Amino acid sequence: MNKVEKMNNLENLKNLKKLAQKLSHGLITLSGLDKNDILQILSYSQQFKDGYNPKSLENRIVASLFFEASTRTRLSFETAIQRLGGQVIGFSESSNTSLAAKNESLSDTLEMIAGYADAIVMRHPNDGSAQLAQDLLPVPILNGGDGGHLHPTQTLLDLFSIFETQGGLEGIHLGLMGDLRYSRTIQSLLEMAVMFNMRLSFIADDNFQPSQQQLDWLVANHVDFSMYDNIHTAIAELDVLYITRLQKERFADDNTDVQNLIITKDDLQHAKTNLKILHPLPRNEEIPTYVDDTPFAYYFQQATNGLFVRMALLDLIFSNDSESRASSPNAPIKLANAKQWTCCNARCISHQHQPAFKSITIQGQENVVCYYCEHNATAQHID
Ligand SMILES: [Zn+2]
Repeated sequence: MNKVEKMNNLENLKNLKKLAQKLSHGLITLSGLDKNDILQILSYSQQFKDGYNPKSLENRIVASLFFEASTRTRLSFETAIQRLGGQVIGFSESSNTSLAAKNESLSDTLEMIAGYADAIVMRHPNDGSAQLAQDLLPVPILNGGDGGHLHPTQTLLDLFSIFETQGGLEGIHLGLMGDLRYSRTIQSLLEMAVMFNMRLSFIADDNFQPSQQQLDWLVANHVDFSMYDNIHTAIAELDVLYITRLQKERFADDNTDVQNLIITKDDLQHAKTNLKILHPLPRNEEIPTYVDDTPFAYYFQQATNGLFVRMALLDLIFSNDSESRASSPNAPIKLANAKQWTCCNARCISHQHQPAFKSITIQGQENVVCYYCEHNATAQHID
């Protein structure tokens, strides 16, 4: 190794250490990470894909707590833990445990398990539950999906797959198709699209296009986007087509022409040669199986990439010594008069626990939003 390589190596190590410190309390959201952090996680994940494995979880126990089933995310996390030499305790669905029957509160369950495990991977049906866990517990928390709110490791594996197939993220033309309004993965992808100056095409029925609030936000961030009601006219310019599951029960009511959102063999004739199709899986009819055998299909490799991204994150989190983990996370300031407010999101964890709110400024206007899920808060009627 020559002098320049040695210096680059040292610089890399220093940066990784800084990143690890940022992740010392785990990963709840991507919002605290900047562009360099994201790129560094992706490049570190690539090292694991290339076979790097420091076995950094030896003699460590990670609790894998799936309060609702998510086979793919759970198996991917648990494989990552075991490949790094760690051991897993936990459950794959809380209805199978005595927790549900005994009606224990989430905070009591978490306090108990934190006494057994060095870190917790958690999937929970309530928005904001992972943040609550991080605030309560002294061990790092990895958010494996909190209700319809966030799923940061999914977004990272999506970005990894885009980077891997397109050679970068900057300026990519990303098509988003399916349920764009109610899908958990879309908001995070929009934030990443802003960060990496991506061009966007939204392909959905009117009722499932991004919300006006999201569109306004994209305009304010100078994102170039177009909207389509069918894939047939949109496909030709895309580098990546990200498809989310069509929720049939919703479509039945809305009388949507689902055929507009199903890729035909003819569509693929018009696609760019570098087009890759991604899907968080499981799929329904939105990707016909004839796509599987074409060079455009990348959804199964995308799922496999989740393993390497999660190995990289776990390794970074566990590379902190206990001292650097001891400092408390930068929790936003909670409003003192929380009792007067209530979160308007029915799925929010604040309805089961002490609610908390924060004040944010949107387009010059001061808004009170829920600390856990960022939905608007409403002032309670007080007699
Ligand atoms: Zn809330």
